[in-house]
Amino acid sequence: MILRTTSHTMKYMNSGKESLYWRIVRDYTELVQLYIDMIHNKKLPLKTFLSSKQLPILNDIERSSWRAVCYKEASMAYRSVLNLTKDKKKFTKPVVKAHSINLEYRLWNIQKCDSGEFNYFIKIVSPYKKSEYRYLSFNVPIKFHRVNRILIEQGFNMNSATMMLTDKGNIKLYWEKEEVAKREGKPIGVDCGYKKLLACSDNTTYGEELEQIYEKISRKKQGSKAFKRALIERDQAINKTVKDFYNDHKDCGLVACENLKCVKHKSKFSKKFNNKLQRWSYPKVLTKLERLSETEGFRLVKIPPAYTSQRCHVCNTVDKSSRQGEKFHCQTCGAECDADINAAINILRLGVYSPQGLIN
Ligand SMILES: [Zn+2]
Repeated sequence: MILRTTSHTMKYMNSGKESLYWRIVRDYTELVQLYIDMIHNKKLPLKTFLSSKQLPILNDIERSSWRAVCYKEASMAYRSVLNLTKDKKKFTKPVVKAHSINLEYRLWNIQKCDSGEFNYFIKIVSPYKKSEYRYLSFNVPIKFHRVNRILIEQGFNMNSATMMLTDKGNIKLYWEKEEVAKREGKPIGVDCGYKKLLACSDNTTYGEELEQIYEKISRKKQGSKAFKRALIERDQAINKTVKDFYNDHKDCGLVACENLKCVKHKSKFSKKFNNKLQRWSYPKVLTKLERLSETEGFRLVKIPPAYTSQRCHVCNTVDKSSRQGEKFHCQTCGAECDADINAAINILRLGVYSPQGLIN
């Protein structure tokens, strides 16, 4: 199963609803703690579920289904701390700080609505007494943004079993989709570099414009607004580049690339610019490739980068001096080609013959 979450701001709530939100988070946290205290003092049994009749009303949270949710959270917290404590004599009861609320399906649902600003309502069953607050449930307006539309297009379904009211003041929805079966297809090796983000073993390259963006970032003052804007521009360019690459290689069955952990120590990027900025690009490329691999069904094989840029793809000789900046010129057999393409071909071979690549 492939899982994703989306986060939704509270900014479409009016101030009344916003204070209600925080009040619920506060009361919920309080009741969880009170139940933990009772479990600790043996006034409540430690079980996964207790009927609402067994659960006393201790604060404004009156509704039985909400009390059951609080007890579940309390017993889970208690049990996990208990299990983690080796010396049971030293065990102290857990103390709950501001806590996100996992709401199970009985306590919420989602409804589409047509308003300019937001487009969905999350209808939440109120934990409070009807007479006091005059409602049985209340609606939290949220917006489905671009990410949601993309998930829906990709065939994700919202997991209606649970959602989260976070202690950061936003709402989290869960999405899921069956993993696509891995398909047969030709393999391709990909090298991630500086002059071009991606160089492929079939002689194609992508993301030449990234260099310009790196330079732009290096000119901005770190932490400034312009700096942050340039980082966003870089991230968008990376996503677009990987997508362009995939669109041209939709028939591939395997993509081989270098393992992230090892790439960190590789000095293949230009020293002229802030090395960090470029290194941070590779994890983003990898994440995007991983996601595409899950949803599109090709295998992603990560190989340790053992001399991929120093090895000649024609005669297999490893020689540091064969790599001459952008060019690869083999000192043994005389083969000449683009240095990144040479690396990509080596990556492809390592990927295809690696244990991961041979599975099937
Ligand atoms: Zn050679």
